[in-house]
Amino acid sequence: MIIQELREKTIPEHREVTGTAVTEATMQRLQPPFAMEAAPIPNPLPIPIPLPPIVGPRILIYKQDPTVAELGVRAIFIPSTVLNGPSDTRITTELPGTTPVARNINGDFIFTPNSPQFDCAHTYAVVRETLTMYQRHNDGAPIPFAWNTGGNLDRITVFPHASVGANAFYSRTAKALKFLFFTPTGSTDEVFTCRSLDIVAHETGHAILDGLKPGWLSAGNPPQTGGLHESFGDLTAIFLALSEPDQAEALVALTKANLHAKNFLSALAEQFGQALGLPFGLRNADNDLKLSEVGNEVHSISQVFTGGIYDVLADIYAFERATQGGVKSPTVILMDVAAKLCKLLFQAIKQAPATAATYTDVVNQMLQISAAQGDPNIYRTFIRNRFAFREVVTSPTPFTEMLSGEMDLMNADYTGDGKAAKDVTQVKVADAASASLRAVQDRSSCCGTMQMPEFQVIAPDKLASKGDLSNDDILATELAALKKAFK
Ligand SMILES: [Zn+2]
Repeated sequence: MIIQELREKTIPEHREVTGTAVTEATMQRLQPPFAMEAAPIPNPLPIPIPLPPIVGPRILIYKQDPTVAELGVRAIFIPSTVLNGPSDTRITTELPGTTPVARNINGDFIFTPNSPQFDCAHTYAVVRETLTMYQRHNDGAPIPFAWNTGGNLDRITVFPHASVGANAFYSRTAKALKFLFFTPTGSTDEVFTCRSLDIVAHETGHAILDGLKPGWLSAGNPPQTGGLHESFGDLTAIFLALSEPDQAEALVALTKANLHAKNFLSALAEQFGQALGLPFGLRNADNDLKLSEVGNEVHSISQVFTGGIYDVLADIYAFERATQGGVKSPTVILMDVAAKLCKLLFQAIKQAPATAATYTDVVNQMLQISAAQGDPNIYRTFIRNRFAFREVVTSPTPFTEMLSGEMDLMNADYTGDGKAAKDVTQVKVADAASASLRAVQDRSSCCGTMQMPEFQVIAPDKLASKGDLSNDDILATELAALKKAFK
């Protein structure tokens, strides 16, 4: 019933997305709530109403991607200055023949879904929302891109239709996010990666993490460091979705507040995944993979960390629902829990080592920050248990009750050992000989970012020094050899 209502309010089916009927219906719902010619006020108000100046546009976007009919297209409000392009202080958009895309008379970017203008506005909006989400978790301070050092203010350029291919990537040398498009085998419909909120958020996650931890993208790091990068991209898509009330509410309704039910949140990049024949999207966050099951392939390794964080999210949500369910709605609790966990992960990553960071490093930072900010003990029990189950860390407290579904969700001090609370904030690596810590990174199944020569060739220490990267940096070793040969 709820889904039916959702469908009626949004797009009925994938194939009708491009139809004009849908577009008109959508446009009707998006009439501006105020007229440009204001109606005369009948009686002047004696007391002025304190109003902040209206800054920022409405932008029409896909809330997941064209195949997720439950969410469809919606208008969002960006509460900051956006100029034609769209562009702002940090982001600009490039599509030859289309950009700069102009705001309408109300200052909004409202276009027919799947038009070039729509794709520019949609892609910009998702990049902007992602950056803003992490800026909030950074206590409001701006997050530099990797090249924003020494007063450099260069923006990142978003290319919604960069070229043909089944991929998308972030490049530090190009200071760009590039989204490709392709026609799947056996189909005539093109798939545009820029129309997927998950893919745009994932690639933006790479760019943001490269600004925070510029040494992490190098293939010279252990596989787990690469896994952290891929996982951060996927978790960015999940946390961005959960930062939006309509997505959080639709998820709660679809799953009856059970985060382990099959849903659009854990199935990342639905349309892209379907086009490649993957029924559950590009990756499935709700997985049970352990480190011993994934070798040294970075994308597989990333799913272990993503799955661990997703389980912690589901655990904390179950606990907070049990404790706060009488005073808050499931949607509000979910948004609170997701924002808190996202911030905890973000802060833990900031405090992790500059190069060669491991899952254990990040888990320990999460445990320590969580304890320092006074979270209930049970939060740390969830974190320890879930990453112990996945063979990332050792388990100082038993997790047999987790495996048998007997965790005491009503007990904030729960540690699993049935005695006085034993809060452990420093755990050890479970298997120091794991291939995920020692082998050479295999990036064969990763997104385009991990395939970029700049991140394959340049050493972690050089990348960690931040700043501009040029093609000569990529070719430095070979150029030095040539210099010697041509002496
Ligand atoms: Zn990636």
